[in-house]
Amino acid sequence: MTFSDLPLIRPLVDAVAQKGYAHPTPIQEQAIPPALEGRDLLGCAQTGTGKTAAFTLPILQQLAEAPRPKGRRPIRALVLTPTRELAIQIEECCRDYAGGTDIRHCVIFGGVSQRPQVDALRRGVDLLVATPGRLLDLVGQGHVSLASVAHFVLDEADRMLDMGFIHDIRRILPLLPERRQTLFFSATMPDDILRLASTMLRDPVHVSVTPPASVVETISQSIRFAEKADKKEALIALVEERPEAATLVFSRTKHGADRIARILTRAGIEARAIHGDKSQGARERAMNDFRSGACRVLIATDIAARGIDISELPLVVNYDLPEVPETYVHRIGRTGRAGHEGVAVSLCSEEERPLLQQILKLTGLQLEEDGTLAVAPPAPPKPRGPHAPKAAAPQPGRNGERSRQGAARGKGSRPAPAEASASDPSRRHRHRPRRIGAHAPSTDRRR
Ligand code: AMP
Repeated sequence: MTFSDLPLIRPLVDAVAQKGYAHPTPIQEQAIPPALEGRDLLGCAQTGTGKTAAFTLPILQQLAEAPRPKGRRPIRALVLTPTRELAIQIEECCRDYAGGTDIRHCVIFGGVSQRPQVDALRRGVDLLVATPGRLLDLVGQGHVSLASVAHFVLDEADRMLDMGFIHDIRRILPLLPERRQTLFFSATMPDDILRLASTMLRDPVHVSVTPPASVVETISQSIRFAEKADKKEALIALVEERPEAATLVFSRTKHGADRIARILTRAGIEARAIHGDKSQGARERAMNDFRSGACRVLIATDIAARGIDISELPLVVNYDLPEVPETYVHRIGRTGRAGHEGVAVSLCSEEERPLLQQILKLTGLQLEEDGTLAVAPPAPPKPRGPHAPKAAAPQPGRNGERSRQGAARGKGSRPAPAEASASDPSRRHRHRPRRIGAHAPSTDRRR
C-alpha cells in the first residue's frame, strides 16, 4: 500500500512523499481511514511506530476540509501529550505535513516563558499541541478556549497516568465539547487505561500494533535465579562483574527504582533512578550523569525508559521480570543495538517463574542449565510411513514465525522449558538467540 491508496488529500500525500515515506506504517494504514471518517480511535501503539502521523494526517485533513469559522481562528483540534519533547516532536510533524495547507498550529509546554506561546495563540491557531500543566495555566488565564475543539488526541495515555497527569486530564475533559472526535493512544492497555478510555470514547475503532516479538542476535541473554530478598546482592554482584559497562536496570515500580538506586549508591556504585514521579529536571540530570559516566547505573520503570535515547548500552538488567512478556523484548532491545554486542540478565524469583515461562513462550527461547537463554533446537524428525501418527495441525501463533516454530516442533512436543532443560541433555544446544519475528501488525479493527 502507498499513501496515495489512502483517502488523503494531495497536499498531505505530497508532504509525506517529501519526508521520504514510501509506505504507510501498519498503525497509519489502520488508523487513517476510520479517523478520516470521523470515528473515535483506541490505538495501542508506541513511539517509533509512526503513530504521530497516524493521528496528525487525518486531523489536518479534516481541518483543511471543514469550513473555517469567521473571525479569529478558534482552536479546533487539541493534541495533549505528556512531555515537552513529545510536544515539540508532534509540532514538528504538523509543520512538515501542514505545509501545503493553510492550517495554523502551535505548541505550548511548561518550563519556558509563556509570552511567545500566548502571542501565537492570540494570532489564532487551528491545531494546538499541549502538555497538560501549561494548557491548564493558559486556560486559567483566559488565553485558551477549548469550546470549539472538534478533534481531541490523547497521546501516550499510559505515560500520562504514570506521570500523575490524571487529575489534569480530568480537569481538561469537561472543557471540551461533548460532540467531538477523540483519538486515544497508549503504548500499553492496562485496566486503568481502558477505564479512562471508556469514559472518553464513543464506539471507538480499535487499532493496534503489537510490539516486535523479536530478539536480536547480538544480545546474549541469561537468567539468574534469586529470591526477592537476595536480589540486591545479586544485582550488586552483577554490576561489579562488569565494572566498565553502563548499565540500565529495569524496575517494575517507581518505588522499587528509587530503592534500587539507594541500595547501589550505598554499595559504592553511583546510580540514579528515573520514573514518572521525578520532575523533568531530575530526569534530565539523571540522563546527563548517565551519559557523561558520572553515574554508571540507571534504574528505570518501563514507561520512563522509553524516553532514554542512548544507542549503546552494554548491559541491561531486569531486576523484576515484566508482567507482560512483550515488555521483556522491549527492555532487552535497549542493548545490542547497531551491531554492538549486548548482554541482558534477568533476575528471577520462584514467584516469577510463570512470568519467565511466558517470556520463553513468546520468544521461542529455552532456558539452559547454566541460565543462558538459547534458541530451542529443532524437534527430531517425525516418523514416516503408513503407521506414523498424524501430524498435529500447526497452532496459530501471534506471528508467522512462531507458528512455523510451533509446526516444526509438533504440538505438545515442547516441555515447559524452565523446568525441563536442566534434566534433558538433548536440549543443551548452545545457539545464539536469533530474530524470531518481525514487527507484527495486528489488525484488530473491532467496531
Ligand atoms: P512516531 O512513532 O510517530 O514517533 O514516528 C517514528 C518515526 O517514524 C519518525 O521519525 C517519523 O518521521 C517516522 N515515520 C513516520 N511514518 C513513517 C512512514 N510511513 N515511513 C517511514 N518513516 C515514518
